[in-house]
Amino acid sequence: MNGQVSLSSGFVNGDVSFWYRSSGVPSPGPRLDGDLQADVVIVGAGYTGLWTAYYLKQARPSLNVVVLEKDFAGFGASGRNGGWLTGDLAGSHQRYAATHGAEAARRLQREMYASIDEVIGVCEKEAIDADVVKGGVVNVARTPAQAARLRASVSAARAWGIEESDLRLVDPAERLRVAGAVAASWSPHCARVQPAKLVQGLARAVRELGVTVYERTPVTEIAPGRAVTPFGTVRARHVLRATEGFTSRLKGLRRQWLPMNSSLIVTEPLPASFWETVGWQGSELLGDMAHYYMYAQRTADDRIGFGGRGRPYLYGSRVDARGHTHERTVEALWKLLIDFFPAAASSSVAHAWSGVLGVPRDWCSTVHVDPATGLGWAGGYTGHGVTTANLAGRTLRDLVLGERTALTALPWVGRRVRAWEPEPLRWLGVHTMYRLYRMADHRERSMPGTSVLARVADLITGH
Ligand SMILES: Cc1cc2nc3c(=O)[nH]c(=O)nc-3n(C[C@H](O)[C@H](O)[C@H](O)COP(=O)(O)OP(=O)(O)OC[C@H]3O[C@@H](n4cnc5c(N)ncnc54)[C@H](O)[C@@H]3O)c2cc1C
Repeated sequence: MNGQVSLSSGFVNGDVSFWYRSSGVPSPGPRLDGDLQADVVIVGAGYTGLWTAYYLKQARPSLNVVVLEKDFAGFGASGRNGGWLTGDLAGSHQRYAATHGAEAARRLQREMYASIDEVIGVCEKEAIDADVVKGGVVNVARTPAQAARLRASVSAARAWGIEESDLRLVDPAERLRVAGAVAASWSPHCARVQPAKLVQGLARAVRELGVTVYERTPVTEIAPGRAVTPFGTVRARHVLRATEGFTSRLKGLRRQWLPMNSSLIVTEPLPASFWETVGWQGSELLGDMAHYYMYAQRTADDRIGFGGRGRPYLYGSRVDARGHTHERTVEALWKLLIDFFPAAASSSVAHAWSGVLGVPRDWCSTVHVDPATGLGWAGGYTGHGVTTANLAGRTLRDLVLGERTALTALPWVGRRVRAWEPEPLRWLGVHTMYRLYRMADHRERSMPGTSVLARVADLITGH
């Protein structure tokens, strides 16, 4: 790596994520060994699959629930993310309102807020120590154009029932002082989590409830009544897909959800004087209003975890394996981190990694169970899955049990979204979008409003 970035002597690139560094990357448990009959089979042991198993077993302890995981529980985004347990919805309120009306979109927003406390409550109940602190989220604007967008987004939020107590503009010097910030907002609806501790704790809780999680067991075919693997077939009335960013690897689903890459770096622990200087005392999550946006957390052991878009998309919807991150991405994230916090320049990068998240064509999430076939799924969270997966788990429970509840009436249930374009259009679209976003961010340094380039980018990909 060139001299632009300061790497720790023990720097690690990939190896799933920094979040497994203290515990060690888990050794996968037993794989499926022959055919099985179950009531519900779930494909994928990330938050979606595990929350679904958890709530199903809580509701009906007699149900035979089996989870099939190709690597180990928490191998995917659930063991790699930025640890924002966020109340933000994936996609726009308007799109959820388009089918079910504005009131339904407001209800969905409220359920998202409530889901944060639900996750925290289960962590307490199941003794899952995931370093959770509900310190809210600060979003900063560092150009006049970003500030205009921030103000507009706060005003627009009011129309969706998001009140002053949920989200408000604050003085950027008030807390979490980011260099060059000209405006900021704060919302209490976000908690910091250690992602891998959450997913590993959930896997433990689910196993204790009597769910079998087979690891090293890739599902090669999902069909009504069965999930097929090289080691046997699990037959069940309900087959639920919880494969999010990996969905494109399944037969017939290549264009369903685009596997988008996101990358993170984490610094060495920073001294108390640093946290005092920047006023980052409440474990708030930190985001910004750039088109090519960043997201950050203060970890429980006083590091900065700093994420953003690296190489956004690999041709043909390929997905990475163990999170190795391109040198230029590590360098770009480090430069941005230092630009945000010049006082962190004396630190260095301890770990870098990447993962994939699922992006539907309209950037809005879906949860669905077809009562005729018993097939179901949830995902397309576009980077908001830490909280949404919990709501998905409870909603899939109700749908599988055939119960009509407030959750099954939410407007993301049963949404139909068109597929992404075939290649090379898909690759061209995503890369053009991010190129335009980069150019727009650059231009906005010297203009008051949002660059037209960003609007063109939004149009191309329906963002
Ligand atoms: C770098 C990064 C940062 C992020 N930051 C945030 C954040 O701060 N806040 C937020 O809300 N969201 C964030 N996200 C998104 C969030 O992590 C995901 O939306 C969420 O974890 C999705 O959970 P999941 O269980 O649906 O998918 P995953 O956690 O990806 O789990 C899917 C599982 O399915 C398994 N699988 C796939 N295919 C098969 C198969 N054929 N057979 C068997 N098993 C299979 C995979 O191995 C994997 O374990 C981030 C994502 C990334 C990548």
